[in-house]
Amino acid sequence: MSVPAKINLCLGVGRVRPDGFHPLATVYQAVDLHDELRISSREDGELTVAMHTEVELPEGSTVPEGDDNLAVRAARLLRERLGDPGLGADIAIRKVIPVAGGMAGGSADAAAALVGCNELWGGGLSRADLEPLAAELGSDVPFLLHGGNAIGGGRGETVSPVLARGGYHWVFATATEGLSTAAVYAEFDRLHPDAPAEPEVPDALLNALRAGDAHALGQALSNDLTEASLSLRPELADTLEVGLQAGALGAIVSGSGPTTVFLAASEQHALDLAMALTSAAAAADVIQSRGPVSGARLV
Ligand code: ATP
Repeated sequence: MSVPAKINLCLGVGRVRPDGFHPLATVYQAVDLHDELRISSREDGELTVAMHTEVELPEGSTVPEGDDNLAVRAARLLRERLGDPGLGADIAIRKVIPVAGGMAGGSADAAAALVGCNELWGGGLSRADLEPLAAELGSDVPFLLHGGNAIGGGRGETVSPVLARGGYHWVFATATEGLSTAAVYAEFDRLHPDAPAEPEVPDALLNALRAGDAHALGQALSNDLTEASLSLRPELADTLEVGLQAGALGAIVSGSGPTTVFLAASEQHALDLAMALTSAAAAADVIQSRGPVSGARLV
């Protein structure tokens, strides 16, 4: 299985709900940075995971190798849904998506495990059938079943496709230390007690995507978590500034951060941006990518 990372082209965040979740209005784009999962069947009903990490783990971050790994949780949930406790699998993950970087790497692995195990076990469920399971596993998981560009509502889990044209060149700058999603939302609550009950996706962003206009898209990129992420990690403001000085069409924090995202006008421009970010030592790693790409798929 191959499964992409996501970025949020816009991330509108509302006031925390009584269930503890924040209402979101976002546009996701799946980008060409993939984790790979090899899944093989076991006869004894065990579910195991082995991680091979190609990316440097941020300081203070770990990825659980046991029952808490999101790919294992996804396989377990699917098994419950299929009602056969004898189903087992060995899951080997080659991790390329930055961990705790706001790019939904764990959610991606969960989406891939749902699709892969359903195929392996002959579950016969469609992607639409897998959606409620995906939503139970995490807000970003349903989007990663589909990929492309999509509007995310609810707490991010209700996805609908958007009319979009064109391919985009992105540069990502990762940070040496991860940021806890929960900590960023707590900081958001502190900074924005008057956040709206129902955030909205900006029309300018949808128009830019519809037109396939990279310059307009760069202007329209937005993230309501920016202030909260910068408050916890002030140096991210410098990274954003380096990219903007180097001519990025737009620069934002990815989701809850700390990865920062820059839009380039062309492949060559992406290379120039990557060089500028690297030579300013503004990031742990600098990655060029393209989007949109499709969601979890068998390879
Ligand atoms: P998001 O953008 O969805 O907020 P993120 O990209 O910031 O997420 P992830 O890489 O998804 O962060 O990891 C979040 C936490 O989930 C990690 O700290 C890790 O302990 C846990 N986790 C569980 N399973 C996985 C997995 N398969 N891959 C990565 N992280 C996992």
